[in-house]
Amino acid sequence: MDKQLLSESSPQDEGLIDAACPAARRSRQAQVRWGDHLVTIGGDAPVRVQSMTNTDTVDVIETAIQVKELAQAGSELVRITVNTPEAAAAVPAIREQLDRMGINVPLVGDFHYNGHRLLTEFPDMAQALSKYRINPGNVGKGDKKDRQFAQMIEAAVRYDKVVRIGVNWGSLDQEILAQMMDDNARRATPWDAKQVMYQALIQSALSSASYARELGMNPDNIIISCKVSGVQDLISVYRALSRRCDYALHLGLTEAGMGAKGTVASAAALSILLQEGIGDTIRVSLTPQPGEARTQEVVVALEILQSLGLRAFNPSVTACPGCGRTTSTTFQELAKQIDDFLRAQMPVWRKKYPGVENMKVAVMGCIVNGPGESKHADIGISLPGTGEAPAAPVFIDGEKALTLRGDNIANEFHALVETYIERRFGTASA
Ligand code: SF4
Repeated sequence: MDKQLLSESSPQDEGLIDAACPAARRSRQAQVRWGDHLVTIGGDAPVRVQSMTNTDTVDVIETAIQVKELAQAGSELVRITVNTPEAAAAVPAIREQLDRMGINVPLVGDFHYNGHRLLTEFPDMAQALSKYRINPGNVGKGDKKDRQFAQMIEAAVRYDKVVRIGVNWGSLDQEILAQMMDDNARRATPWDAKQVMYQALIQSALSSASYARELGMNPDNIIISCKVSGVQDLISVYRALSRRCDYALHLGLTEAGMGAKGTVASAAALSILLQEGIGDTIRVSLTPQPGEARTQEVVVALEILQSLGLRAFNPSVTACPGCGRTTSTTFQELAKQIDDFLRAQMPVWRKKYPGVENMKVAVMGCIVNGPGESKHADIGISLPGTGEAPAAPVFIDGEKALTLRGDNIANEFHALVETYIERRFGTASA
C-alpha cells in the first residue's frame, strides 16, 4: 500500500510538509497601563483581546460589574462609552470601584462628537482611562475638525495615554471621502467606488495619525483600526493598511451581527488576517442574543486565537459530533460537563497549575475514532457506541490507562481529569 502511494506521487509531493504558522508583521509596540498593570499591544506581544460594555456608563455599579465579568472572561482591555458629561463624571468612580474589586483591567474611553470637550473638562476622567478611542469621522466638521482632534491628542500627550484612531465605514470622514471621489472622477480610468472607499478609510486613519504625531504624540502610542462589516472588505482594507504603516493594528469586523452569523463572519475575517500576521489586538463585535451574556464576545475572541494556535487560554475539549453509531447523549453531556468544569476552574487554575491551558481532553462517542483521538489528547475517553460492549477505555498521555464501566463513568472520568491536572501541572507550580 505505502509503496503504491509513493509511486503515484510526483516528486514535488514528497518530502516534509511545512507546518502552518502565522506570518509575522512587526509593528510598533504600545504600552497600555493602569497602575502597575501593563498590557503591551503590538511588537512581540501576543494578540490582545478587547471588549466593550453595553451598560449606561452613568450607572457606575452596573458598568463596573460588567467590566469585571468581561475581564474575568479574558478581556485584557475593556472599552466603555463616554458620551455625556454625566458619563465622563462616572468614569473615575467606575475605575475606583474596579480597583476596590481587584480588577486592574485598563479602561478605554470611546469618544464621538464631544470627546474634545469631555477630555478637557473632566481631567479625572482623562486620567482614569488608560486609552482613548478617537473616531476621526466623528471629531467635528470643517475648521473645527483639526482643532477638536488636537484637543483630544493634547489630552493623550498630557496624561501619557495610548490612542486608537478608529475609523469605521459607518462614520467615515465625509470630507475625505468626497475629496477622494472628486479626485477619482478626474482619473483617466476611475476606480470603482469600493476602491475609493477602501482608500478613504486608510487615508482617514493614516492622515489623522500623522497629524497626531505633529502634535507631539509618540507614534508607539498610536493604534489604528479601519473597521468595516464585510469579511472580504475587511481583509482587503487591512492587507493594504498593514503594508502602509507600522502602527499596531486593532482588528475587528464591525457590526458582525448575532449568533452563528456574527461568530462565523468574525472568525472567518479575523483568522485570515491573523494568519497573515495582521492584527495586534482584536474585538469580536457580536450583538448579544436575548438573554446572552455580554461575555460571549470575549469567549469567541479567545476561541479564535486559541484555534489558530496563537494563544492558549483554556484546556481544549475535543469531542466528536456524534452520529448513528451512538444513540445516547452520554458523550455529549460528558463533553459539555468537562468543558464547563475546566472553564469554571481556570481563574484559579491559571495561577495554581501553570501550563494547564495547553491541556487537551478528548471525549468521543464510539470506537471508530474514539481511541485514536483519545490517544492524541493528554487525557481522553472513548465511550461505548450503540451495540458496543459497555466499557469506556481511558487514555492518558497516549497510552490506554484503564477502562471505566457502569453507571458512574462521567463522575469517574471527571475525577481522573482532576487527578491528572494535579499530577502534571501541580508539580510544575511547586
Ligand atoms: S467517533 Fe463514533 S460516534 Fe463519534 S462521530 Fe465518529 S463514528 Fe460517530
